[in-house]
Amino acid sequence: MKSNLAYRFELKPNNVQRTHFAKCAGAARFAWNWGLDERRRLFREKQGHERLTNAIEQHRRLNALKKTNFPWMYEVSKCVPQVALQNLDNAYALYRKGRKAGRKVRLPKFKKKGRARDAFAFTTGAIRAEGTHVILPRIGRVRAKEPAVLDGRILRATVTRDADRWFVSFTVVQEVKDSQLPTGSAVGVDLGVSHMSTLSDGRVFENPRPLHSRVRKIRRLTRDLHRRLEGSNNRRKAADRLAKEYLHIGNIRKDALHKATTCLAKNHSEIVIEDLNVQGMVTNRHLARAISDVGFGEFHRQLEYKCRWYGSHLTVAPRFYPSTKRCSSCGHVGDKMPLSKRIYECESCGLVLDRDMNAALNLVAVSSTETLNAGGDLASTTPPRASRAGSMKQEMNAVIPHGIGG
Ligand SMILES: [Zn+2]
Repeated sequence: MKSNLAYRFELKPNNVQRTHFAKCAGAARFAWNWGLDERRRLFREKQGHERLTNAIEQHRRLNALKKTNFPWMYEVSKCVPQVALQNLDNAYALYRKGRKAGRKVRLPKFKKKGRARDAFAFTTGAIRAEGTHVILPRIGRVRAKEPAVLDGRILRATVTRDADRWFVSFTVVQEVKDSQLPTGSAVGVDLGVSHMSTLSDGRVFENPRPLHSRVRKIRRLTRDLHRRLEGSNNRRKAADRLAKEYLHIGNIRKDALHKATTCLAKNHSEIVIEDLNVQGMVTNRHLARAISDVGFGEFHRQLEYKCRWYGSHLTVAPRFYPSTKRCSSCGHVGDKMPLSKRIYECESCGLVLDRDMNAALNLVAVSSTETLNAGGDLASTTPPRASRAGSMKQEMNAVIPHGIGG
């Protein structure tokens, strides 16, 4: 079976390379904005026909203008604006798809310097990983913070900046060998706010809730930022401090989620989760911060690809399955439980059980009755050797690599 994987490494660029990275990010942002501007103009002129142009046509037109209007673009690989225009194309395709499905979607927006995350990508040219170095088109050898080891054919290299640190993410396609399915039993997983997840076998994954403990620090840093004069050096420094804090929070959260989802997907033949309408839940103002802090959506996303990766089944309980209201012992469905009520008490059989545990047991009960395979493909896969080095370093991208903002 062939699958797409992404490997991410932190880079240690020198000053010349940093400047070049910034130029590439600028060219990508420029191409995106130029393409978006043209699309909007065409839309106005042709009154509503969105599918007027595509990335290939736009790249041809941009190239024709390069010589006379944008000579500075010759400093970066031609691949950079090309990929940015492809990303714009993908963004429009997502928009059309979302609208067709009746979802609330927004049109692609212009990218403002300092607002959108700096990013650019290469799909052709000299892209390699060699020991402690990474080789990129027009830039050459860039030092990596740790040995960059990867197998497979590289499809794409995306360079991003996070709080003044540069990262490269390689999308590779590799052949993965068939192996045995995980042999562990089925497990129900209840996601919660007090514990990140409660398992039907009694285990609990705790929730680091990084934002919760840092709300005051974030507030202080934000206040600090807005006190500084716009455009000043001190304001830039304050913005860097805030960005660094957010990056740190994100890393703590991601690490905990990766540990939990890897453990589940690797050791259980079937995992049953709730169909959480996360978007709907986050619009509840009181729950919003707690839920974003736990990262429910990210939990689902990771479980989905890791189950496919390790060859385990992911079962999503039906939308309105009463996992919290139902008694896991006798099946009696009680009244709605307010969030403050932490203990489940059954009126019918007298069962008294922790609320989350009861829900997890109800979920695992679904495994034998309903089996919707979220992965779609039952073929088992072995994780590549390098994957055991650390869960945060790489992820498998389900179908297409995420489009980067130009
Ligand atoms: Zn009962």
